[in-house]
Amino acid sequence: MELRDLPSVDELAREVDDPLAVDAARVVLARAREEIRAGAEPGDLDTRLRDELAAVRRPMLRRVINATGVIVHTNLGRAPLAPAALERAVEVGRSYSNLEFELASGSRGSRQDHVAAIVRRLTGAEAALVVNNNAGALLLALAALAEGREVVVSRGELIEIGDGFRIPDVLGRSGARLVEVGTTNRTRAADYDRAVNADTALLLRVHQSNFRVVGFAEQPALKELAAVARRHELPLLDDLGSGALVPLPDEPTARDALDGGADLVCFSGDKLLGGPQAGIVAGRADLVEKLRRHPLHRALRIDKLSLAALEGTLLLYLEPERAIAEVPVLRMFHEDAAAVRARAEKLAAAAGGEVEETVSRVGGGALPLAELPSFACAVDESLAARLRDREPPVIGIVRDGRLLLDCRTLTDAEADEVAAALARS
Ligand SMILES: *Cc1c(COP(=O)(O)O)cnc(C)c1O
Repeated sequence: MELRDLPSVDELAREVDDPLAVDAARVVLARAREEIRAGAEPGDLDTRLRDELAAVRRPMLRRVINATGVIVHTNLGRAPLAPAALERAVEVGRSYSNLEFELASGSRGSRQDHVAAIVRRLTGAEAALVVNNNAGALLLALAALAEGREVVVSRGELIEIGDGFRIPDVLGRSGARLVEVGTTNRTRAADYDRAVNADTALLLRVHQSNFRVVGFAEQPALKELAAVARRHELPLLDDLGSGALVPLPDEPTARDALDGGADLVCFSGDKLLGGPQAGIVAGRADLVEKLRRHPLHRALRIDKLSLAALEGTLLLYLEPERAIAEVPVLRMFHEDAAAVRARAEKLAAAAGGEVEETVSRVGGGALPLAELPSFACAVDESLAARLRDREPPVIGIVRDGRLLLDCRTLTDAEADEVAAALARS
């Protein structure tokens, strides 16, 4: 085909009865012109027009199958929600709700009232507040408690979490001034003690999240830091990052941190908690009240769908066993390696792959050293791009010329979908 053989936009658009036809025809013809100039054959333009129209209407944000073995995969949407949490979001989203309405009195209420009590129950805190995400929670806490004043932090905790999110930058934006103490590898309680002056507003501890300093390293225990804070009558804010609500090896629970002397903790809703994106703040009532009254609270407020899903998730935690069984992140974390292996064997048998021992990771900046024993179905590397092109797309990990499909982050039903996708590849 030559350039002059191409139809006009209107001619091509007339082939279909569709309000988006003209725009789609323009795109198809522009692409065809480029291909002809490059010496390629553009093929049947009517078919391409129909494909383009279908592509425009296909949602861009789609479900994918996570076969990476990274449980809290930030690029893949972090925590999948429990069915009970999704039901809450669907029910509240479909209809009007008592989001900010007190049913007893018939007057205006606060969206914070719906989850404050359950967060208090699960953490032992006096008061609680939820916002859009944990970065927002940290920003709000710093702005409300330390604007224009100093915040003391260990140099070993001035982390970047991912996508350029750096603790010192958040501190700067909050209007608080950062005072660094200690060194990258060693900070002692006495370092905080010496840094405190009349301008100090807060001691901040930040979970190291995605890295660990090993070897000649020291950070004060929470109790020691709490003693320094008490001596100077300063609040201690502990950014827990992931913030587990049930005990997990090497990950502090919010209750532990509050019992250990933190005045306020903040943590994410969609990391190890396994809920929707949210930032949860819990602790002393007078401090939480300052956050609630700060103007940034309005800008950072949590949306009703997230709030509904968060409540649905937190309700599961009233029975920890139920949370472990039903919150997907916890279920994947706790699943027995033998069960993962059985899933990998079934997938490999169906798909002609090989079972390979591997390690899964928690991800999302939690437990960076934890290696969860896992099993993958290994297939040829060349399948990676084709599987990403399937519906739903399947995402694995390429290693040593092979594509590993880690079965810890798959449900049994998803493993069947992967097998079907491989059969068509
Ligand atoms: C992940 C993380 C954050 C940011 O939480 P988001 O919910 O992603 O906004 C803040 N602090 C720490 C220590 C973290 O690990």
